[in-house]
Amino acid sequence: MRTALVIGSGPAAAGCILRLLDQPDLAITVIDVGARLPEANRARAEGLRASLPSQWLDADWRAVTAVAKAQNGEVLPEKSVLGSTYPFDNFGQMTGVSWEGGTHVKAISGALGGFSNVWGAQGYPFTKRALALWPDEGKTMASAYQDVVKVIPLAGRDDELATVLPLYGDLLELPPLAERSRRMLAASARSREKLQRKHLVAGAARVCFHANQCLSCGLCNSGCVWDLLFSTRQLFERWIAKGQIRYYSNTLAISISERPGGQPAVEAMTVDGAPKRFVADRIFVGAGAIGSTRIVLNSLPGIKRASLLETRQVIIPLWSRRPVPNPQAQPAFTVAQAAIMIAAGTPSEAFLQFYPYDPSFVGALPTLLSKSAAVRQLLVRHLSVGIVYLNSDQSPRLLVERAPAGGGGSQSAISLSGARLSLANRNVRRVLRSVLSASRTLDMWPLVPAAKVSPAGRSYHWGGSFPYSPEEGNDMVSDRFGRIKPWRKVHLIDAATFPTLAPTGFLLTVMANAHRIASESLGLDI
Ligand SMILES: Cc1cc2nc3c(=O)[nH]c(=O)nc-3n(C[C@H](O)[C@H](O)[C@H](O)COP(=O)(O)OP(=O)(O)OC[C@H]3O[C@@H](n4cnc5c(N)ncnc54)[C@H](O)[C@@H]3O)c2cc1C
Ligand code: SF4
Repeated sequence: MRTALVIGSGPAAAGCILRLLDQPDLAITVIDVGARLPEANRARAEGLRASLPSQWLDADWRAVTAVAKAQNGEVLPEKSVLGSTYPFDNFGQMTGVSWEGGTHVKAISGALGGFSNVWGAQGYPFTKRALALWPDEGKTMASAYQDVVKVIPLAGRDDELATVLPLYGDLLELPPLAERSRRMLAASARSREKLQRKHLVAGAARVCFHANQCLSCGLCNSGCVWDLLFSTRQLFERWIAKGQIRYYSNTLAISISERPGGQPAVEAMTVDGAPKRFVADRIFVGAGAIGSTRIVLNSLPGIKRASLLETRQVIIPLWSRRPVPNPQAQPAFTVAQAAIMIAAGTPSEAFLQFYPYDPSFVGALPTLLSKSAAVRQLLVRHLSVGIVYLNSDQSPRLLVERAPAGGGGSQSAISLSGARLSLANRNVRRVLRSVLSASRTLDMWPLVPAAKVSPAGRSYHWGGSFPYSPEEGNDMVSDRFGRIKPWRKVHLIDAATFPTLAPTGFLLTVMANAHRIASESLGLDI
Protein backbone atom coordinates (compact mmCIF):
# COMPACT_ATOMS: atom_id res chain seq x y z
CA MET A 1 0.00 0.00 0.00
CA ARG A 2 1.40 3.44 -0.94
CA THR A 3 1.08 6.25 1.59
CA ALA A 4 0.35 9.97 1.27
CA LEU A 5 0.43 12.52 4.08
CA VAL A 6 -1.53 15.75 3.67
CA ILE A 7 -1.04 18.78 5.94
CA GLY A 8 -4.17 20.92 6.53
CA SER A 9 -7.89 20.69 5.81
CA GLY A 10 -8.45 23.94 3.90
CA PRO A 11 -9.24 24.21 0.18
CA ALA A 12 -5.72 23.17 -0.87
CA ALA A 13 -5.79 19.95 1.17
CA ALA A 14 -9.35 19.26 0.01
CA GLY A 15 -8.51 19.70 -3.70
CA CYS A 16 -5.53 17.36 -3.32
CA ILE A 17 -7.46 14.68 -1.42
CA LEU A 18 -10.32 14.76 -3.94
CA ARG A 19 -7.83 13.42 -6.48
CA LEU A 20 -5.96 11.05 -4.13
CA LEU A 21 -9.22 9.34 -3.15
CA ASP A 22 -9.42 7.90 -6.69
CA GLN A 23 -6.44 5.68 -5.86
CA PRO A 24 -7.60 2.42 -4.21
CA ASP A 25 -4.05 1.41 -3.20
CA LEU A 26 -3.23 4.68 -1.44
CA ALA A 27 -3.58 5.23 2.33
CA ILE A 28 -4.19 8.92 3.09
CA THR A 29 -3.24 10.45 6.44
CA VAL A 30 -4.06 14.06 7.30
CA ILE A 31 -2.46 16.13 10.05
CA ASP A 32 -4.20 19.35 10.93
CA VAL A 33 -4.55 21.91 13.69
CA GLY A 34 -8.23 21.25 12.99
CA ALA A 35 -10.04 23.48 15.52
CA ARG A 36 -13.84 23.28 15.41
CA LEU A 37 -16.69 25.63 16.25
CA PRO A 38 -17.00 25.62 20.07
CA GLU A 39 -19.60 23.08 21.21
CA ALA A 40 -21.93 25.69 22.78
CA ASN A 41 -22.07 27.68 19.50
CA ARG A 42 -22.62 24.51 17.47
CA ALA A 43 -25.42 23.27 19.72
CA ARG A 44 -27.15 26.67 19.72
CA ALA A 45 -27.03 26.91 15.93
CA GLU A 46 -28.34 23.38 15.52
CA GLY A 47 -31.20 24.07 17.94
CA LEU A 48 -32.24 27.11 15.89
CA ARG A 49 -32.45 25.25 12.58
CA ALA A 50 -36.03 24.12 13.16
CA SER A 51 -37.41 27.67 13.36
CA LEU A 52 -37.21 30.87 11.33
CA PRO A 53 -35.00 33.76 12.48
CA SER A 54 -38.17 35.80 13.21
CA GLN A 55 -39.08 33.17 15.83
CA TRP A 56 -35.69 33.12 17.59
CA LEU A 57 -35.32 34.56 21.09
CA ASP A 58 -33.44 37.88 21.16
CA ALA A 59 -30.56 36.33 23.11
CA ASP A 60 -30.13 33.54 20.54
CA TRP A 61 -30.32 36.02 17.68
CA ARG A 62 -27.64 38.21 19.27
CA ALA A 63 -25.43 35.19 19.99
CA VAL A 64 -25.42 33.74 16.46
CA THR A 65 -25.14 37.08 14.67
CA ALA A 66 -22.44 38.62 16.90
CA VAL A 67 -19.79 40.20 14.67
CA ALA A 68 -16.28 41.23 15.62
CA LYS A 69 -15.69 45.00 15.77
CA ALA A 70 -13.60 46.78 13.15
CA GLN A 71 -10.16 47.77 14.51
CA ASN A 72 -8.02 50.89 13.90
CA GLY A 73 -10.46 52.64 11.59
CA GLU A 74 -10.83 49.62 9.27
CA VAL A 75 -14.00 49.50 7.22
CA LEU A 76 -14.53 45.76 7.51
CA PRO A 77 -14.31 43.90 10.82
CA GLU A 78 -12.77 40.45 11.00
CA LYS A 79 -15.52 37.94 10.24
CA SER A 80 -17.08 35.70 12.85
CA VAL A 81 -19.04 32.50 12.37
CA LEU A 82 -22.10 31.74 14.48
CA GLY A 83 -20.75 33.94 17.29
CA SER A 84 -17.18 32.58 17.28
CA THR A 85 -13.90 33.78 15.74
CA TYR A 86 -12.28 30.32 15.93
CA PRO A 87 -11.01 30.28 12.28
CA PHE A 88 -8.77 33.24 13.24
CA ASP A 89 -7.81 32.07 16.76
CA ASN A 90 -4.33 30.89 17.70
CA PHE A 91 -3.91 27.21 18.60
CA GLY A 92 -0.11 27.38 18.32
CA GLN A 93 0.05 27.94 14.55
CA MET A 94 0.31 31.74 15.03
CA THR A 95 2.72 31.66 17.98
CA GLY A 96 5.80 33.71 17.09
CA VAL A 97 4.15 35.41 14.07
CA SER A 98 4.28 39.21 14.24
CA TRP A 99 3.43 42.07 11.87
CA GLU A 100 5.81 44.97 11.35
CA GLY A 101 3.72 48.15 11.23
CA GLY A 102 0.09 48.22 10.10
CA THR A 103 -2.69 45.96 11.20
CA HIS A 104 -1.98 42.53 12.68
CA VAL A 105 -3.67 40.13 10.27
CA LYS A 106 -4.30 36.65 11.64
CA ALA A 107 -2.66 35.04 8.66
CA ILE A 108 -2.62 31.30 9.47
CA SER A 109 -5.90 29.61 10.21
CA GLY A 110 -5.98 26.63 12.57
CA ALA A 111 -9.55 25.56 11.76
CA LEU A 112 -10.89 22.33 10.29
CA GLY A 113 -11.66 23.76 6.84
CA GLY A 114 -9.27 26.71 7.34
CA PHE A 115 -10.49 30.09 6.11
CA SER A 116 -13.24 28.44 4.05
CA ASN A 117 -15.31 28.67 7.27
CA VAL A 118 -15.43 32.45 6.97
CA TRP A 119 -14.82 33.14 3.31
CA GLY A 120 -17.14 35.27 1.18
CA ALA A 121 -18.24 32.19 -0.85
CA GLN A 122 -17.42 33.92 -4.18
CA GLY A 123 -16.32 31.20 -6.60
CA TYR A 124 -14.56 32.42 -9.76
CA PRO A 125 -11.64 30.98 -11.70
CA PHE A 126 -8.46 32.96 -12.39
CA THR A 127 -8.36 35.04 -15.56
CA LYS A 128 -6.63 33.90 -18.73
CA ARG A 129 -4.07 36.68 -18.30
CA ALA A 130 -3.12 35.55 -14.78
CA LEU A 131 -2.80 31.90 -15.85
CA ALA A 132 -0.51 32.70 -18.80
CA LEU A 133 2.61 32.18 -16.62
CA TRP A 134 1.35 28.94 -15.08
CA PRO A 135 2.35 25.41 -16.18
CA ASP A 136 1.18 24.91 -19.80
CA GLU A 137 -0.06 28.53 -19.75
CA GLY A 138 -2.86 27.41 -17.44
CA LYS A 139 -4.42 25.02 -19.99
CA THR A 140 -4.24 22.04 -17.60
CA MET A 141 -6.25 24.02 -15.05
CA ALA A 142 -9.46 23.71 -17.10
CA SER A 143 -10.05 20.03 -16.31
CA ALA A 144 -8.99 20.60 -12.67
CA TYR A 145 -11.59 23.38 -12.33
CA GLN A 146 -14.19 21.02 -13.80
CA ASP A 147 -13.32 18.30 -11.29
CA VAL A 148 -13.53 20.53 -8.22
CA VAL A 149 -16.70 22.32 -9.32
CA LYS A 150 -18.43 18.89 -9.29
CA VAL A 151 -18.20 18.78 -5.46
CA ILE A 152 -19.05 22.43 -4.81
CA PRO A 153 -22.61 23.77 -4.83
CA LEU A 154 -22.17 26.77 -7.13
CA ALA A 155 -25.01 29.20 -7.82
CA GLY A 156 -24.97 31.90 -10.47
CA ARG A 157 -25.98 32.73 -14.01
CA ASP A 158 -24.58 31.99 -17.43
CA ASP A 159 -24.35 35.67 -18.33
CA GLU A 160 -21.94 38.22 -19.79
CA LEU A 161 -19.34 37.51 -17.10
CA ALA A 162 -18.86 34.02 -18.57
CA THR A 163 -17.23 35.64 -21.62
CA VAL A 164 -14.21 36.52 -19.45
CA LEU A 165 -14.56 34.05 -16.55
CA PRO A 166 -15.58 30.64 -17.97
CA LEU A 167 -18.06 28.39 -16.19
CA TYR A 168 -16.66 24.94 -15.46
CA GLY A 169 -19.89 23.17 -14.52
CA ASP A 170 -23.60 23.49 -13.95
CA LEU A 171 -24.96 26.32 -11.86
CA LEU A 172 -27.74 26.34 -9.28
CA GLU A 173 -30.23 29.15 -9.57
CA LEU A 174 -29.50 32.11 -7.32
CA PRO A 175 -32.17 32.95 -4.72
CA PRO A 176 -33.98 36.27 -5.29
CA LEU A 177 -31.50 39.14 -5.43
CA ALA A 178 -31.91 42.39 -3.51
CA GLU A 179 -33.70 45.13 -5.45
CA ARG A 180 -30.46 47.14 -5.67
CA SER A 181 -28.62 44.25 -7.36
CA ARG A 182 -31.55 43.58 -9.70
CA ARG A 183 -31.49 47.20 -10.86
CA MET A 184 -27.72 47.19 -11.31
CA LEU A 185 -27.80 43.97 -13.37
CA ALA A 186 -30.76 45.13 -15.45
CA ALA A 187 -28.96 48.41 -16.21
CA SER A 188 -25.75 46.57 -17.14
CA ALA A 189 -27.65 44.18 -19.46
CA ARG A 190 -29.32 47.17 -21.19
CA SER A 191 -25.97 48.93 -21.65
CA ARG A 192 -23.71 45.96 -22.36
CA GLU A 193 -21.97 47.54 -25.36
CA LYS A 194 -21.52 50.87 -23.67
CA LEU A 195 -19.87 49.12 -20.70
CA GLN A 196 -17.72 47.02 -23.01
CA ARG A 197 -16.32 50.21 -24.54
CA LYS A 198 -15.22 51.16 -21.02
CA HIS A 199 -13.67 47.67 -20.58
CA LEU A 200 -16.29 46.65 -18.01
CA VAL A 201 -18.16 43.33 -17.96
CA ALA A 202 -20.89 42.87 -15.34
CA GLY A 203 -22.86 39.84 -14.24
CA ALA A 204 -24.51 38.08 -11.34
CA ALA A 205 -22.25 36.76 -8.57
CA ARG A 206 -21.17 33.12 -8.49
CA VAL A 207 -21.78 31.99 -4.96
CA CYS A 208 -20.73 28.64 -3.51
CA PHE A 209 -23.79 27.68 -1.48
CA HIS A 210 -26.85 25.45 -1.48
CA ALA A 211 -28.91 28.20 -3.06
CA ASN A 212 -31.98 25.99 -3.49
CA GLN A 213 -32.32 25.67 0.33
CA CYS A 214 -31.59 29.31 1.17
CA LEU A 215 -34.20 31.06 3.33
CA SER A 216 -33.01 34.56 2.35
CA CYS A 217 -32.64 35.44 6.02
CA GLY A 218 -29.79 37.88 5.34
CA LEU A 219 -27.40 36.54 7.98
CA CYS A 220 -24.69 34.98 5.77
CA ASN A 221 -21.92 37.30 6.91
CA SER A 222 -22.09 36.07 10.51
CA GLY A 223 -22.42 32.39 9.53
CA CYS A 224 -25.32 30.31 8.21
CA VAL A 225 -27.20 28.42 10.93
CA TRP A 226 -28.20 25.88 8.25
CA ASP A 227 -24.58 25.43 7.09
CA LEU A 228 -25.53 26.18 3.47
CA LEU A 229 -22.34 28.10 2.57
CA PHE A 230 -19.68 25.78 1.18
CA SER A 231 -16.69 25.03 3.40
CA THR A 232 -14.08 22.31 2.94
CA ARG A 233 -14.86 21.42 6.56
CA GLN A 234 -18.00 19.74 5.19
CA LEU A 235 -15.92 17.53 2.85
CA PHE A 236 -13.53 16.55 5.64
CA GLU A 237 -16.39 15.74 8.03
CA ARG A 238 -17.72 13.36 5.37
CA TRP A 239 -14.33 11.75 4.61
CA ILE A 240 -13.59 11.29 8.33
CA ALA A 241 -17.04 9.79 9.03
CA LYS A 242 -16.67 7.35 6.11
CA GLY A 243 -13.13 6.36 7.18
CA GLN A 244 -11.71 7.46 3.81
CA ILE A 245 -8.84 9.32 5.47
CA ARG A 246 -6.93 8.86 8.72
CA TYR A 247 -7.28 12.25 10.38
CA TYR A 248 -5.09 13.64 13.21
CA SER A 249 -6.49 16.92 14.57
CA ASN A 250 -4.80 19.09 17.24
CA THR A 251 -1.54 18.39 15.43
CA LEU A 252 0.89 21.06 14.25
CA ALA A 253 3.33 20.23 11.46
CA ILE A 254 6.61 21.91 12.42
CA SER A 255 9.23 20.88 9.87
CA ILE A 256 9.89 18.48 7.01
CA SER A 257 12.99 16.51 6.04
CA GLU A 258 13.80 14.32 3.05
CA ARG A 259 16.98 12.31 2.54
CA PRO A 260 17.88 11.28 -1.04
CA GLY A 261 16.15 8.01 -1.84
CA GLY A 262 14.36 7.86 1.52
CA GLN A 263 10.82 8.61 2.65
CA PRO A 264 10.13 12.21 3.63
CA ALA A 265 9.13 12.87 7.26
CA VAL A 266 7.22 15.53 9.19
CA GLU A 267 8.24 16.50 12.72
CA ALA A 268 5.02 17.54 14.40
CA MET A 269 3.65 18.34 17.83
CA THR A 270 0.22 18.13 19.41
CA VAL A 271 -1.27 21.45 20.47
CA ASP A 272 -0.39 20.37 24.06
CA GLY A 273 3.29 20.13 23.08
CA ALA A 274 3.80 16.35 22.69
CA PRO A 275 6.21 15.54 19.81
CA LYS A 276 5.05 13.33 16.92
CA ARG A 277 6.66 12.07 13.73
CA PHE A 278 4.99 11.01 10.48
CA VAL A 279 6.54 9.41 7.40
CA ALA A 280 4.94 8.74 4.01
CA ASP A 281 5.83 8.07 0.39
CA ARG A 282 4.73 11.60 -0.50
CA ILE A 283 3.87 14.67 1.58
CA PHE A 284 1.46 17.35 0.39
CA VAL A 285 1.76 20.65 2.29
CA GLY A 286 -1.45 22.73 2.41
CA ALA A 287 -1.21 24.86 5.56
CA GLY A 288 -2.24 28.04 3.68
CA ALA A 289 0.39 30.01 1.72
CA ILE A 290 1.83 31.72 4.81
CA GLY A 291 1.47 28.61 7.02
CA SER A 292 3.30 26.48 4.45
CA THR A 293 5.99 29.13 3.94
CA ARG A 294 6.61 29.03 7.67
CA ILE A 295 6.97 25.21 7.60
CA VAL A 296 9.58 25.61 4.81
CA LEU A 297 11.44 28.24 6.89
CA ASN A 298 11.34 25.90 9.94
CA SER A 299 12.78 23.11 7.78
CA LEU A 300 15.45 24.92 5.73
CA PRO A 301 17.47 27.32 7.92
CA GLY A 302 19.32 28.68 4.88
CA ILE A 303 16.17 30.48 3.74
CA LYS A 304 15.90 33.77 5.62
CA ARG A 305 12.99 35.41 3.88
CA ALA A 306 10.38 35.05 1.15
CA SER A 307 8.10 37.54 -0.51
CA LEU A 308 4.47 36.95 -1.38
CA LEU A 309 2.14 38.43 -3.96
CA GLU A 310 -1.16 39.88 -2.82
CA THR A 311 -4.27 41.22 -4.56
CA ARG A 312 -4.86 44.35 -2.50
CA GLN A 313 -8.43 45.21 -1.56
CA VAL A 314 -10.16 48.59 -2.01
CA ILE A 315 -13.52 49.16 -0.32
CA ILE A 316 -15.75 51.65 -2.12
CA PRO A 317 -19.08 52.81 -0.67
CA LEU A 318 -21.51 53.42 -3.54
CA TRP A 319 -24.41 55.86 -3.65
CA SER A 320 -27.46 55.42 -5.90
CA ARG A 321 -29.65 58.38 -6.71
CA ARG A 322 -32.83 56.31 -6.99
CA PRO A 323 -33.66 54.75 -3.60
CA VAL A 324 -34.86 51.15 -3.26
CA PRO A 325 -37.60 50.13 -0.81
CA ASN A 326 -36.16 49.70 2.71
CA PRO A 327 -33.81 46.69 2.29
CA GLN A 328 -33.97 45.97 6.04
CA ALA A 329 -37.59 44.91 5.52
CA GLN A 330 -36.74 42.56 2.62
CA PRO A 331 -33.69 40.51 3.55
CA ALA A 332 -31.75 38.61 0.90
CA PHE A 333 -28.57 36.58 1.11
CA THR A 334 -25.75 38.93 2.08
CA VAL A 335 -22.57 37.79 0.38
CA ALA A 336 -21.78 39.57 -2.90
CA GLN A 337 -24.66 39.42 -5.40
CA ALA A 338 -23.02 40.80 -8.55
CA ALA A 339 -19.57 41.45 -9.97
CA ILE A 340 -17.82 43.64 -12.52
CA MET A 341 -14.66 42.58 -14.32
CA ILE A 342 -12.56 45.66 -14.98
CA ALA A 343 -10.11 45.82 -17.91
CA ALA A 344 -9.99 42.04 -18.50
CA GLY A 345 -6.87 40.86 -20.30
CA THR A 346 -4.90 44.07 -19.63
CA PRO A 347 -2.24 44.83 -17.01
CA SER A 348 -4.92 46.81 -15.11
CA GLU A 349 -7.23 43.83 -14.61
CA ALA A 350 -9.30 44.33 -11.44
CA PHE A 351 -12.51 42.83 -10.07
CA LEU A 352 -15.40 44.46 -8.22
CA GLN A 353 -17.68 42.39 -5.99
CA PHE A 354 -20.99 44.14 -5.44
CA TYR A 355 -22.73 44.00 -2.04
CA PRO A 356 -26.22 45.43 -1.71
CA TYR A 357 -27.45 46.11 1.84
CA ASP A 358 -25.80 44.23 4.70
CA PRO A 359 -26.62 44.78 8.42
CA SER A 360 -22.95 45.73 9.00
CA PHE A 361 -23.47 48.89 6.87
CA VAL A 362 -25.32 50.50 9.76
CA GLY A 363 -22.35 49.93 12.08
CA ALA A 364 -20.04 51.46 9.47
CA LEU A 365 -22.05 54.72 9.22
CA PRO A 366 -20.61 57.70 11.09
CA THR A 367 -22.07 57.71 14.66
CA LEU A 368 -23.89 60.97 14.09
CA LEU A 369 -25.79 59.54 11.12
CA SER A 370 -26.46 56.09 12.55
CA LYS A 371 -28.09 57.43 15.76
CA SER A 372 -31.38 58.30 14.12
CA ALA A 373 -33.49 55.37 12.86
CA ALA A 374 -35.14 57.59 10.23
CA VAL A 375 -31.78 58.79 8.86
CA ARG A 376 -30.43 55.24 8.91
CA GLN A 377 -33.38 53.95 6.95
CA LEU A 378 -33.04 56.71 4.39
CA LEU A 379 -29.32 56.09 3.90
CA VAL A 380 -29.50 52.33 3.52
CA ARG A 381 -32.03 52.78 0.71
CA HIS A 382 -29.28 54.50 -1.31
CA LEU A 383 -26.11 52.72 -0.19
CA SER A 384 -24.28 49.65 -1.46
CA VAL A 385 -20.62 48.62 -1.38
CA GLY A 386 -18.08 47.54 -3.99
CA ILE A 387 -15.07 45.56 -2.85
CA VAL A 388 -12.44 45.80 -5.56
CA TYR A 389 -9.39 43.54 -5.77
CA LEU A 390 -6.37 44.72 -7.76
CA ASN A 391 -4.27 42.09 -9.52
CA SER A 392 -0.91 41.07 -8.04
CA ASP A 393 1.14 43.22 -10.47
CA GLN A 394 -0.72 46.27 -9.18
CA SER A 395 -0.33 45.43 -5.47
CA PRO A 396 2.66 45.73 -3.13
CA ARG A 397 4.24 42.47 -1.98
CA LEU A 398 4.16 40.99 1.51
CA LEU A 399 7.49 40.11 3.09
CA VAL A 400 7.93 37.10 5.39
CA GLU A 401 11.20 37.23 7.33
CA ARG A 402 12.78 35.12 9.98
CA ALA A 403 12.52 37.35 13.06
CA PRO A 404 15.79 37.87 14.96
CA ALA A 405 14.11 37.46 18.36
CA GLY A 406 12.64 34.04 19.28
CA GLY A 407 9.13 33.56 20.63
CA GLY A 408 8.08 30.84 18.20
CA GLY A 409 8.83 27.90 20.52
CA SER A 410 9.84 24.99 18.30
CA GLN A 411 8.87 27.02 15.21
CA SER A 412 10.85 29.89 13.68
CA ALA A 413 9.58 33.29 14.75
CA ILE A 414 8.57 35.19 11.61
CA SER A 415 7.60 38.77 10.94
CA LEU A 416 5.29 39.87 8.14
CA SER A 417 5.13 43.28 6.54
CA GLY A 418 3.78 45.07 3.50
CA ALA A 419 3.70 48.64 2.24
CA ARG A 420 0.54 50.68 2.74
CA LEU A 421 -1.33 51.68 -0.37
CA SER A 422 -3.27 54.94 -0.39
CA LEU A 423 -6.14 56.26 -2.48
CA ALA A 424 -3.55 58.42 -4.24
CA ASN A 425 -1.82 55.35 -5.71
CA ARG A 426 -2.17 55.39 -9.50
CA ASN A 427 -3.52 51.82 -9.72
CA VAL A 428 -6.16 52.63 -7.11
CA ARG A 429 -7.02 55.88 -8.88
CA ARG A 430 -7.36 54.02 -12.18
CA VAL A 431 -9.83 51.59 -10.62
CA LEU A 432 -11.82 54.43 -9.07
CA ARG A 433 -11.94 56.14 -12.48
CA SER A 434 -13.23 52.91 -14.07
CA VAL A 435 -16.01 52.60 -11.49
CA LEU A 436 -16.83 56.28 -11.90
CA SER A 437 -17.07 55.85 -15.68
CA ALA A 438 -20.06 53.51 -15.18
CA SER A 439 -21.81 55.59 -12.51
CA ARG A 440 -24.44 57.19 -14.68
CA THR A 441 -25.19 53.95 -16.54
CA LEU A 442 -25.52 51.83 -13.40
CA ASP A 443 -26.69 54.55 -10.94
CA MET A 444 -23.76 53.60 -8.75
CA TRP A 445 -21.64 56.57 -7.68
CA PRO A 446 -18.43 55.86 -5.77
CA LEU A 447 -18.16 57.93 -2.58
CA VAL A 448 -14.46 58.44 -3.21
CA PRO A 449 -13.56 60.29 0.03
CA ALA A 450 -15.06 57.39 2.04
CA ALA A 451 -13.23 54.70 0.02
CA LYS A 452 -10.43 52.83 1.80
CA VAL A 453 -7.57 50.60 0.74
CA SER A 454 -7.32 47.71 3.18
CA PRO A 455 -4.05 47.26 5.05
CA ALA A 456 -1.40 44.82 3.83
CA GLY A 457 -2.53 41.20 4.09
CA ARG A 458 -6.17 42.01 4.78
CA SER A 459 -7.36 40.75 1.37
CA TYR A 460 -6.50 37.19 2.49
CA HIS A 461 -5.66 36.58 -1.17
CA TRP A 462 -1.91 36.00 -1.17
CA GLY A 463 0.64 33.49 -2.44
CA GLY A 464 3.72 32.98 -4.54
CA SER A 465 6.45 32.70 -1.88
CA PHE A 466 7.91 29.80 -3.94
CA PRO A 467 6.39 30.59 -7.35
CA TYR A 468 6.24 28.06 -10.15
CA SER A 469 9.03 28.60 -12.65
CA PRO A 470 9.90 26.47 -15.70
CA GLU A 471 13.58 27.21 -14.95
CA GLU A 472 15.32 25.12 -12.31
CA GLY A 473 18.33 26.07 -10.25
CA ASN A 474 16.92 28.51 -7.75
CA ASP A 475 15.88 27.41 -4.21
CA MET A 476 13.11 30.00 -4.09
CA VAL A 477 11.00 28.63 -6.96
CA SER A 478 8.95 25.45 -7.41
CA ASP A 479 8.42 23.10 -10.31
CA ARG A 480 5.02 22.19 -11.80
CA PHE A 481 4.59 19.55 -9.08
CA GLY A 482 4.90 22.15 -6.29
CA ARG A 483 8.41 20.91 -5.36
CA ILE A 484 11.20 23.20 -4.24
CA LYS A 485 14.76 22.12 -5.01
CA PRO A 486 15.79 20.34 -1.77
CA TRP A 487 12.72 18.09 -1.89
CA ARG A 488 11.55 15.52 -4.46
CA LYS A 489 8.66 13.86 -2.61
CA VAL A 490 7.30 16.92 -0.84
CA HIS A 491 4.78 19.08 -2.68
CA LEU A 492 3.54 22.56 -1.78
CA ILE A 493 -0.11 22.45 -2.82
CA ASP A 494 -1.52 25.81 -1.72
CA ALA A 495 -1.09 29.31 -3.16
CA ALA A 496 2.60 29.34 -2.07
CA THR A 497 3.50 28.22 -5.60
CA PHE A 498 1.22 30.60 -7.56
CA PRO A 499 3.39 32.65 -9.96
CA THR A 500 0.68 35.30 -10.49
CA LEU A 501 -2.61 36.16 -8.80
CA ALA A 502 -5.79 37.19 -10.56
CA PRO A 503 -8.08 39.69 -8.84
CA THR A 504 -11.02 37.27 -9.01
CA GLY A 505 -10.64 35.40 -5.71
CA PHE A 506 -8.87 32.30 -4.65
CA LEU A 507 -10.68 29.26 -3.37
CA LEU A 508 -11.59 27.59 -6.67
CA THR A 509 -8.06 28.07 -8.01
CA VAL A 510 -6.42 26.85 -4.79
CA MET A 511 -8.53 23.67 -4.91
CA ALA A 512 -8.05 23.13 -8.64
CA ASN A 513 -4.28 23.66 -8.55
CA ALA A 514 -3.88 21.24 -5.62
CA HIS A 515 -5.98 18.73 -7.56
CA ARG A 516 -3.71 19.21 -10.59
CA ILE A 517 -0.53 18.77 -8.52
CA ALA A 518 -1.91 15.61 -6.85
CA SER A 519 -2.91 14.23 -10.22
CA GLU A 520 0.44 14.87 -11.91
CA SER A 521 2.53 13.71 -8.94
CA LEU A 522 0.78 10.31 -8.96
CA GLY A 523 2.66 9.62 -12.20
CA LEU A 524 6.11 10.45 -10.77
CA ASP A 525 8.74 7.77 -10.14
CA ILE A 526 10.67 9.94 -7.71
C1 LIG B 1 -12.73 36.73 5.40
C2 LIG B 1 -12.29 35.98 4.19
C3 LIG B 1 -13.05 36.06 3.03
C4 LIG B 1 -12.64 35.37 1.88
N1 LIG B 1 -13.45 35.39 0.78
C5 LIG B 1 -13.11 34.68 -0.31
C6 LIG B 1 -14.01 34.62 -1.42
O1 LIG B 1 -15.12 35.16 -1.39
N2 LIG B 1 -13.60 33.93 -2.52
C7 LIG B 1 -12.41 33.26 -2.57
O2 LIG B 1 -12.13 32.63 -3.59
N3 LIG B 1 -11.57 33.27 -1.51
C8 LIG B 1 -11.89 33.95 -0.38
N4 LIG B 1 -11.07 33.95 0.70
C9 LIG B 1 -9.77 33.26 0.60
C10 LIG B 1 -9.89 31.76 0.82
O3 LIG B 1 -10.65 31.47 1.95
C11 LIG B 1 -8.47 31.21 0.98
O4 LIG B 1 -7.73 31.55 -0.17
C12 LIG B 1 -8.44 29.70 1.14
O5 LIG B 1 -9.12 29.31 2.31
C13 LIG B 1 -6.98 29.22 1.22
O6 LIG B 1 -7.00 27.82 1.35
P1 LIG B 1 -5.76 27.01 1.92
O7 LIG B 1 -6.15 25.59 1.97
O8 LIG B 1 -4.55 27.38 1.16
O9 LIG B 1 -5.51 27.57 3.40
P2 LIG B 1 -6.45 27.78 4.66
O10 LIG B 1 -7.86 27.94 4.30
O11 LIG B 1 -5.78 28.87 5.43
O12 LIG B 1 -6.29 26.40 5.49
C14 LIG B 1 -5.10 26.08 6.16
C15 LIG B 1 -5.26 24.72 6.83
O13 LIG B 1 -3.98 24.33 7.33
C16 LIG B 1 -4.07 23.96 8.70
N5 LIG B 1 -2.77 24.35 9.29
C17 LIG B 1 -2.19 25.59 9.33
N6 LIG B 1 -0.94 25.50 9.86
C18 LIG B 1 -0.74 24.19 10.15
C19 LIG B 1 0.34 23.46 10.70
N7 LIG B 1 1.51 24.03 11.03
N8 LIG B 1 0.17 22.11 10.88
C20 LIG B 1 -0.97 21.47 10.54
N9 LIG B 1 -2.03 22.12 10.02
C21 LIG B 1 -1.90 23.46 9.79
C22 LIG B 1 -5.27 24.69 9.24
O14 LIG B 1 -5.83 23.97 10.34
C23 LIG B 1 -6.20 24.69 8.02
O15 LIG B 1 -6.91 23.49 7.96
C24 LIG B 1 -11.44 34.61 1.88
C25 LIG B 1 -10.68 34.52 3.06
C26 LIG B 1 -11.10 35.19 4.20
C27 LIG B 1 -10.29 35.06 5.46
S1 SF4 C 1 -29.44 33.94 3.55
FE1 SF4 C 1 -27.40 33.17 4.07
S2 SF4 C 1 -27.57 32.66 6.25
FE2 SF4 C 1 -29.69 32.82 5.46
S3 SF4 C 1 -30.25 30.72 4.85
FE3 SF4 C 1 -29.41 31.75 3.02
S4 SF4 C 1 -27.23 31.18 3.04
FE4 SF4 C 1 -28.01 30.78 5.09
